[in-house]
Amino acid sequence: MTGQVVVVGSANVDLVVEVPRHPGGGETILGGDLRRNPGGKGANQAVAAARAGGAETTFAGALGTDESAELLLASLERAGVRTDLVSRVDAPTGTALITVSPDGENAIVVAPGANARLALTDAQLHRIAHADVVLAQLEIPLGVVRAAAAARRPGAVMALNAAPSRDLPADLWDVVDLLIVNEHEAADLARTGGSPEGLAGVLLDRVPAVVITLGAGGSLVAERDAEPVRIPGKRVAAVDTTGAGDTFCGVLAAALARGLALPEAARIAGVAGALAVTRPGAQDAVPTAAEVAEESA
Ligand code: ADP
Repeated sequence: MTGQVVVVGSANVDLVVEVPRHPGGGETILGGDLRRNPGGKGANQAVAAARAGGAETTFAGALGTDESAELLLASLERAGVRTDLVSRVDAPTGTALITVSPDGENAIVVAPGANARLALTDAQLHRIAHADVVLAQLEIPLGVVRAAAAARRPGAVMALNAAPSRDLPADLWDVVDLLIVNEHEAADLARTGGSPEGLAGVLLDRVPAVVITLGAGGSLVAERDAEPVRIPGKRVAAVDTTGAGDTFCGVLAAALARGLALPEAARIAGVAGALAVTRPGAQDAVPTAAEVAEESA
């Protein structure tokens, strides 16, 4: 049986320049050559879900009608994502302006453009209603996340990667089946600090299941009425951590759609996340199912 994943989220073209240091206000500096990479949390996660295999992945997002849109469509299609329901709107495709300093620190400004205009069409809602897993993030209007959750069928999983960090209104918490966050986002949402187990305990009061990603430390899986499970991180030489979280979320969604239990899905997603950090870029760094299987063996 092939599972169905629908990723509802953003697509951005990342305009990346390496700089000797980040400029201050009013300052102009010279950087390196401009790179244009397909990105955006939604598109990255859709690529990861599709590369993971075993599930059919649809991207439900909005693009403009510019060259950036073509770059993103090509990347999604190369990964095997279904793009038949991508909306084309009268706004520039989302764009992230990224400077990278020699210590690897990023400074990022996002112009949401088409992402802010995303409004789910009947066809997108219909596809969502047939999905096993619906995966959303917070780079799109919250009303869209709400509408996606409302459209899911009984038994389907509404997974929310609550990134970038922002407050969630009460009614949104109520529709989330699985929350996926890194440690910083977990602390923001829990409004406290402490151990991942402590944060997960607080978050489980609001949602039935939580995965907290811990970078090189792997992840923590916490479900109501079960002991939390630590999934150790895989030891790798990190080259570029961009997209590790997105790879993790997409691969996790595909594994859940194939019917795997959450801890096993998180284990596979962790291997994929670890492989992603050994390569530069976001979508281009996402491993295939075969590569993940080989690393897991
Ligand atoms: P985010 O990018 O959202 O902050 P994380 O950094 O926690 O997310 O990365 C997501 C997942 O990718 C982790 O749970 C882990 O499984 C894997 N990962 C990330 N960085 C590393 C690393 N340096 N070594 C091994 N695995 C990593």
